[in-house]
Amino acid sequence: MKSLGSIRRDFAPWNDPSAKPYIQFDSVTKKFGDFTAVNNLSLTIFEREFFALLGASGCGKSTLLRMLAGFEEPTSGRILLDGQDLRGIPPYRRPVNMMFQSYALFPHMTVENNIAFGLKQEGMPKSDIEKRVAEMLKLVKLEQFAKRKPHQLSGGQRQRVALARSVAKRPKVLLLDEPLGALDKKLREETQFELMDLQQELGLTFVVVTHDQEEAMTMADRIAIMDKGEVMQVATPAEVYEAPASRFVAHFVGNVNMFEGKVAERAANTTRITGATGAQIVVENSTESKAGSDIVFAIRPEKIKVSSKKPTDAVNALEGEVYDVAYLGDMTVYHIRLDDGQIIRASALNAARVTEDPLTWNDRAWVSFRPDAGVVLAR
Ligand code: ATP
Repeated sequence: MKSLGSIRRDFAPWNDPSAKPYIQFDSVTKKFGDFTAVNNLSLTIFEREFFALLGASGCGKSTLLRMLAGFEEPTSGRILLDGQDLRGIPPYRRPVNMMFQSYALFPHMTVENNIAFGLKQEGMPKSDIEKRVAEMLKLVKLEQFAKRKPHQLSGGQRQRVALARSVAKRPKVLLLDEPLGALDKKLREETQFELMDLQQELGLTFVVVTHDQEEAMTMADRIAIMDKGEVMQVATPAEVYEAPASRFVAHFVGNVNMFEGKVAERAANTTRITGATGAQIVVENSTESKAGSDIVFAIRPEKIKVSSKKPTDAVNALEGEVYDVAYLGDMTVYHIRLDDGQIIRASALNAARVTEDPLTWNDRAWVSFRPDAGVVLAR
C-alpha cells in the first residue's frame, strides 16, 4: 500500500464527507483601515484536531486566532463554533481559551494561584478548585513547583504553568499563539511532544499559530499555509511536503529544487518534460498534463541520488559537477552544478560512519531520481 508520509492515522475527519466541522471560518475578511489583514478566507477545523496556522510574519495568522477568541470581530464573513455564529459573543463567553506567547503569568502569584486564578473568577467552589489545580499540576508535571513564583522557574516550566492555566477551565478549544517561541531548540522539541500528548489526553481542539515549519509539521494533524491574509493550502504535514499545491507552498516548507520546462508528451501514467535547457525528465502522477503547457517540476533534495558514475537503471539521470559539499553529521548536502548551469541540491543520509569513495569539490557527478520522486506544478 502506498501513502504519503509514514504515518497513517485513523483520525482524518476531513476525508469523511459526513463529518461535521467544529470551527468554520466562512468568507472571513478583516480590515484595519484600508489594510486587509485577512482576505475572504474560508477554513474548517474538526473537533479534537490539532490544527496549525503556518505563515511568515504579518500574514494574518494571529488576527485569525484573535477573531476566533473574540478579541477582534471580522469586517465581513462569519465564524461558527459547533454551528453557532460567534458574532457579538464576548471572549469570556466563548468556549475558547487563548495562550499567549508571553504566557502573561502573574509574577506575584505562586504557580498554583496562577492556575487557580480563572477558576476563582468563575466562582468555582474552593474544594473543586483545589482538586482541579492538583490535577493540572500533575498533568504538566509541576507538582513539586506549586508554591514557587514564576521567576523561580525555567522558561520551559513557565510555559507549562501557562498551559495548565489555560486548560484549567476546560475550554473546548485552546488557541496557542507561538506557544514555544520563548524556548530554546532542544526544549522546544521536547515540549512539542508534550503538547501533543496533552492534547490527546484532554481530547481538546488545538489551534496553534507558528512561523516554524518544523513545529507545525511535528505537532499538527493538518496545517494551513497562509500568505498575505489568504490560505494557500490546507493539508496534512505529509501532503504539504510531498504534494504541495503550488510553488509558494513547495518553497515555504522545506527545501526544494525546481526545474522549469514544458510538457513534451503525455502517456497513460507518465509525462515527459523538456527542461528549459533541453534536459528530458520523465515523471509520474502529473496533473498538469496538457502537452505544451509551461510547468515546473519540484523535487526535494533527499529524493535525489548523487553518484560518481552514471546509474545504469535510472529513468532520470543528469550530469554535472560537485559545486559544494556540506557535512552536517546526520546527512551530507551536495550542490551539483548540472552541465546546463542549474544548481541542484541533493542530500544523502549518512547511514554509515564511513563513506567509500566520497565525492568532493569539482568531481564529476550524476544526479538521478525516480519518476515518482517529485511533483509537477503550474508555472
Ligand atoms: P506575526 O507572526 O508577526 O505575529 P501574523 O501573521 O500573526 O504575524 P497578524 O498579527 O495577524 O500577523 O497581522 C497581520 C497584519 O495585520 C500585519 O500586517 C499587521 O501589521 C496588521 N495588523 C494587525 N493588527 C492590527 C491593528 N490592530 N491595526 C492595524 N493593523 C494591524
